[in-house]
Amino acid sequence: MKAETAVKRKTAEAWIGLGSNLEDPESQLLQAFDELDALPETRLRARSSLYRSEPVSDIPQDDYINAVARLETGLAPLQLLDALQTIERAHHRQRIAGVVNGPRTLDLDLLLYDDETLDHPCLTLPHPRLHQRLFVLLPMREIDAGLRIAQLGRLDKLIATAPAMRLQKLDR
Ligand code: AMP
Repeated sequence: MKAETAVKRKTAEAWIGLGSNLEDPESQLLQAFDELDALPETRLRARSSLYRSEPVSDIPQDDYINAVARLETGLAPLQLLDALQTIERAHHRQRIAGVVNGPRTLDLDLLLYDDETLDHPCLTLPHPRLHQRLFVLLPMREIDAGLRIAQLGRLDKLIATAPAMRLQKLDR
């Protein structure tokens, strides 16, 4: 952990969704937690367990490992998105033109940034598919079961209405 003095200006609470299904996915996520904690003006405040989930894709591929992290950050939303994409690139994430939901070494989604709502060409807040994904909602509940999300409502209601999927909580 960095010294308390490292974050001086007003901070926000940011929630990050992590996913990987290539090249030792569990290690990809455990390393990414450390990398999130090492971002400037940012601390990792909480993280969920790792979960194994079935791919949501028409492309045959391995199961995913997913998790959620809650950060305290002095970075603005677009700065944070940029930092997340830098971490993805460091994990050799390759985007293949025209392929949506393909296999990936590391995917980092900015799920929530305080209660902000944003419709920017590069960033939608809350994340537009957050409420449809149990592999995001259940890890979020581990961190804050009483969470209420801007525009979407209570986390437990979202969990009750999200599409069923195969999901297994792991011991790490
Ligand atoms: P993906 O390939 O699923 O990681 O999607 C990444 C693209 O989604 C990037 O071009 C981002 O600019 C865009 N994007 C929009 N909103 C978000 C968000 N809340 N978190 C992460 N990426 C986002």
